[in-house]
Amino acid sequence: MANENFPICRKCESGNLLPLSDFGGQGASIQYKAWVCSNAPDCGFNIKIRNGDVYINEPIASGAGYSPRVRS
Ligand SMILES: [Zn+2]
Repeated sequence: MANENFPICRKCESGNLLPLSDFGGQGASIQYKAWVCSNAPDCGFNIKIRNGDVYINEPIASGAGYSPRVRS
């Protein structure tokens, strides 16, 4: 079954881009939209729209290989 409701990933052309929303961390309502390819981790293409800026292929916050910067 194909998810025809979602756009096809333009990178691998086999996965679907799944929309992620309501990504608020501390209960705050954040205008944050992200699309991630369902063909992960083979593809892993992701695009995020945040504060009017577009971020492509940012590291996915999975905890692996990406450490958030903490100011002490
Ligand atoms: Zn893809």
